[in-house]
Amino acid sequence: MEIIVGKTAGFCGGVFYSVDKASKYVLDNKSVYCLGELVHNKQVVSSLEEKGLKFIEDLSEVKDESTVIIRAHGVAKEVYEEAERRNIKLYDLTCPKVLKIHEQAKKYLDEGYFIILIAHKEHPEVIGTISFCGQDSFIVETKDDILDCLNKVKNSKKKNIVVLAQTTYSIALFNEIVNILKDKLDNGYNFVVNNTICNATESRQKEIKELASLVDAMIIIGGKHSSNTKKLYDISNEICSNTYLVETVSELHDDFSVYNKVGVMAGASTPKESIDDVVNYLKSYDK
Ligand code: SF4
Repeated sequence: MEIIVGKTAGFCGGVFYSVDKASKYVLDNKSVYCLGELVHNKQVVSSLEEKGLKFIEDLSEVKDESTVIIRAHGVAKEVYEEAERRNIKLYDLTCPKVLKIHEQAKKYLDEGYFIILIAHKEHPEVIGTISFCGQDSFIVETKDDILDCLNKVKNSKKKNIVVLAQTTYSIALFNEIVNILKDKLDNGYNFVVNNTICNATESRQKEIKELASLVDAMIIIGGKHSSNTKKLYDISNEICSNTYLVETVSELHDDFSVYNKVGVMAGASTPKESIDDVVNYLKSYDK
């Protein structure tokens, strides 16, 4: 069996940065909390827990003089405000690319723009970003949201509109939504498109398309809550019907000996060990 592992599989720069810094910090400091999952991967979270990192869902759970780590996806502006009010020390490990989007949101808000965020409403990164966008903003998650979005734009009376995106949103869908918005808005609007989809996401989505068309089966490894992993699965599944989505090798039960060529890809929060486990499992078919 030929096994092809995607070149972009596994930790992106932002996840590596957050996990690396958090791992070192928790070893050097006594009481450290992390607000929400540092990254969307159970194995990574468990390994940090073993090192002593305590995961909490809300700042109200911080009772002592601990430090609170801000996860890679970032948090809402209210979290920073509450921490300042209560003198809680933060160690901000938000991915620098996500912080850049927060900065852009603040800038466009100050300049009086209406901000359209093309994103998944419930994703932690999006909950963070939208908090910096002000009242005149709207999240478009699917094409079905476009009409409501345009109504809100009209009611706001704003003529300057900027579009931003969740870092892990689908590029194809982003372009589709932007084109529909352009078509529906008349000439009286200044329409700025700022594609903030991360290039790590872009190259991964591009590679999975190529890889899925070369193999008989694809295995995507990643956390069940990971948006970028789900997207990889969707893209691959459209091209290769034998696409498997697993968090760890223990979920692979089918007989892979029927395949000659198997591709392996992993989401941005998937550790190298999980990829190696799957590759070793596939290699065992040749023994
Ligand atoms: S996918 Fe991009 S934006 Fe998201 S954590 Fe990784 S590097 Fe940062």
